[in-house]
Amino acid sequence: MQADANTDFLIIGAGFAGCVVAERLAAAGWKCVIVDRRGHVGGNAYDETDAAGVLVHRYGPHYFRTNSSRIVQYLSRFTEWHAVAYTIKSFARDRYWSFPVNLNTFEQYQGRSSNSEEFAAWLETVRVGGGEARNSEEAVISQVGRDLYELFFEGYTLKQWQRHPRDLDASVCGRIPLRTNRDERYLTEDFQALPQRGYSALFGNMLEASAGVEVHMGVEFAEARRRWRCRHLVFSGPVDEFFDYQFGPLPYRSLRFEAESFTNGQLEERASIAGKPGFWQPAMQVNYPELAVPFTRIVEIKHATGQQVEATTIVREYPKEWQRGEEPYYPIPAPGAQAAYQRYAQLAAAEEHVSFVGRLATYRYYNMDQVVGMALAEADKLLRRYGSPSSRILD
Ligand SMILES: Cc1cc2nc3c(=O)[nH]c(=O)nc-3n(C[C@H](O)[C@H](O)[C@H](O)COP(=O)(O)OP(=O)(O)OC[C@H]3O[C@@H](n4cnc5c(N)ncnc54)[C@H](O)[C@@H]3O)c2cc1C
Repeated sequence: MQADANTDFLIIGAGFAGCVVAERLAAAGWKCVIVDRRGHVGGNAYDETDAAGVLVHRYGPHYFRTNSSRIVQYLSRFTEWHAVAYTIKSFARDRYWSFPVNLNTFEQYQGRSSNSEEFAAWLETVRVGGGEARNSEEAVISQVGRDLYELFFEGYTLKQWQRHPRDLDASVCGRIPLRTNRDERYLTEDFQALPQRGYSALFGNMLEASAGVEVHMGVEFAEARRRWRCRHLVFSGPVDEFFDYQFGPLPYRSLRFEAESFTNGQLEERASIAGKPGFWQPAMQVNYPELAVPFTRIVEIKHATGQQVEATTIVREYPKEWQRGEEPYYPIPAPGAQAAYQRYAQLAAAEEHVSFVGRLATYRYYNMDQVVGMALAEADKLLRRYGSPSSRILD
């Protein structure tokens, strides 16, 4: 079938992967068409103002952080930042705990005051195993022992992945920090901040700055392929979908979000729990590791955005099995799934005029900064390969 139009690059997916590649190629003078099946740009990082007037992250909370000054510099062309010390807590045995585990958690656990030396010495007595952890259970019990593992990690992981921690890669739980001081920050990266006016504004600025990019929302890959002939395709959708599921669908984990909003008037009786007026809970995120509770966490993103608004919204997150046609939120970080992906990866490597970029196209959980880094590298590679637009053949 004859395509309707020509472009230099056809880009599938308007998340960080697709938009960054498009912006870089357009800045070099190339003509790009970017499409997404959703009705908005931003991919999973998309945010919006809900009916209560609260800025929320539609596809789950997105805490931007990075150790790369190059990535901060690049994104800073499109946004200013609102610095955040992301904090979370865990709710179990009928109380809130400091989390990730630190000296405050240890004191709550012991029911008395303590110090870093005592906590470090205690950890030595409870740690099990050593050497290289082969799975997430080993990764955690070798750091905090079995009781804290059962209290904070085992049930949470079972709910999140519907797999036991011993059947998941060590990296899944192993990357949560453990501190013997009172540092309550959830994350360890040097730069922790949210785009000042939100992610959607960042994406809007990025695409506005890209004169050579045509954006088409609500367009499926199959339709885009019919409509545009291109010299190179950049694909940031699911790699198994690209190859028509010929080896079967890859396994994903999905999520259901349940939002509830409150006006400041309705929050008065929560003030003692939240610790300040206008909030529902005491931290941006509270984990619920107990199996009796069906959700894994409640996020109140207003703690992080710093938005001044007379209301708040909390979102309960329920992990669920993924069915074809639903949002594929998380690739499964377990050996069987990786082996299945390798078959698709071989096909992808043989595609000469297609780049596979981003978390779905490479079937791996990446944070946003990692995807931005991957997209910048891919754009550099394409610019080296195709040179300058003066060598265009399609126009
Ligand atoms: C619940 C959750 C929480 C997260 N929290 C964080 C966090 O706190 N910090 C962090 O750094 N990262 C976080 N991430 C990861 C972050 O979402 C990703 O790193 C980032 O979104 C990846 O960008 P991407 O462009 O690769 O994919 P996406 O953002 O998923 O974009 C891909 C786009 O492609 C479109 N698409 C797919 N297939 C097709 C098709 N066939 N046709 C047309 N369009 C298609 C999709 O609609 C989507 O918009 C989180 C992820 C999830 C799921």
